[in-house]
Amino acid sequence: MGTLSARTLPSYNGLTSHWEETMKTRNLVLIAVTAVAITAPVVTGDSLRAAESLADTEAEIARAAAALKPKLVETRRDFHQHPELSNREERTGREVAERLRALGLEVKAGVARNGVVAILRGGRPGPVIASRADMDALPIQEAHETPYKSKNQGVMHACGHDVHTTVGLGVAEVLSRMRERIPGTVKFVFQPAEEGPPLGEEGGAPLMIKEGVLDDPKPRAIFGLHVAPDVEVGKIGYSSGPAMASSDRFLVTVQGKMSHGAWPHEGIDAVLVSAEYITALQSIRSRRIDSLDPIVLTVGTIHGGNRHNILADRVQLDGTVRALDERTRGRVKDLMREILAGVTAAHGARFDFDYKDGNPITYNDPGLVEETLPAIRRAAGAANLAARRPVMGAEDFSYYQKVIPGFFYWLGVSNPARGITAMIHTAEFDVDEECLVVGVRVMATVLLDHLERHPAGGR
Ligand SMILES: [Zn+2]
Ligand SMILES: [Zn+2]
Repeated sequence: MGTLSARTLPSYNGLTSHWEETMKTRNLVLIAVTAVAITAPVVTGDSLRAAESLADTEAEIARAAAALKPKLVETRRDFHQHPELSNREERTGREVAERLRALGLEVKAGVARNGVVAILRGGRPGPVIASRADMDALPIQEAHETPYKSKNQGVMHACGHDVHTTVGLGVAEVLSRMRERIPGTVKFVFQPAEEGPPLGEEGGAPLMIKEGVLDDPKPRAIFGLHVAPDVEVGKIGYSSGPAMASSDRFLVTVQGKMSHGAWPHEGIDAVLVSAEYITALQSIRSRRIDSLDPIVLTVGTIHGGNRHNILADRVQLDGTVRALDERTRGRVKDLMREILAGVTAAHGARFDFDYKDGNPITYNDPGLVEETLPAIRRAAGAANLAARRPVMGAEDFSYYQKVIPGFFYWLGVSNPARGITAMIHTAEFDVDEECLVVGVRVMATVLLDHLERHPAGGR
């Protein structure tokens, strides 16, 4: 994903012990069932038994995730030492496929180049859901000296996708052990190239979808998580509705007319026109869009001109637009073109406007979020779940959410007491590996909970 905004999650106490968690979970479920018993007309012994067995199963997930910690740490360190760039995740994809096969899942490798899809068919009838993890790394030279430092020069898991992949594998392992009791099917999606494929290549979520990852069987919902460097380990953050921004790219060419620098009236200065355009662009944010509707509009590069005493005939601007609302996104694009047409016309210049739609808005289906939060509270502890503001970073998880409802939440990974606070996409980024256990426990609980609450055929 892209850049996160400032710290927004309130700070809470650490996680309670697994024993306390287990007891709390059991009590909560029993309280919930008792409450239903008071208000609902009929409560069968079956539903009470079902609640008890769910609590037992969730306690079992918590124990299994905790017991898996040494293996999770080893797996994450292996991926961390062998990071691979987008669309080049050959080793990672191979490792993932091998480990999933060892769990006895139906595995399909080579999806969207290095992607892997594994299907876990539960022993009881039920719906299909999906869980997604991304696998690619970034072109950054790791700065930290750790025993698990990247062995690939100039490549680093600086966005935590090693954690996502490890958690995905851990969830597959925990759930595959209780396969007989699972009411439905879980599709595990391991996706390459989330950071964007190299120029001229297809890749990432759009290619996975094109190659049928959401078909046959079609999941009714998809879940995903991302490490959050500004959320403490043990905690989970989430946004309902827009969670992350759309991320588009624009390439603008201002075409003027060259002339001798001493006779500017003979030419059309593309530098001057571009300067006016860049300044005018920021009035979109401040004057043309509702102030409560966030956007980012940045010109990242500007290239043009030939020499100090020659009027530039051509300037190119390259930049990004981020928005949290589809209508606003479209409006910004229209205004950018309109202003460009106006500014260039005022100076007799011409223009080319090339706007490329990138990642859509990561939109967490509010209904899905609402129904999932209780499971996260049970798995992470109620005090460890907090709503947070959306961020202007982007995620290609959003493409799945255009097809089926999805919920993408934040996994806390920082630990200020241990000095683990660095931002993602930096050479210093690292995680508190306890996040692996929390990630597995929460995601496995979320998936199972969803299957339990949506019997086969229902939506
Ligand atoms: Zn990233
Ligand atoms: Zn990422």
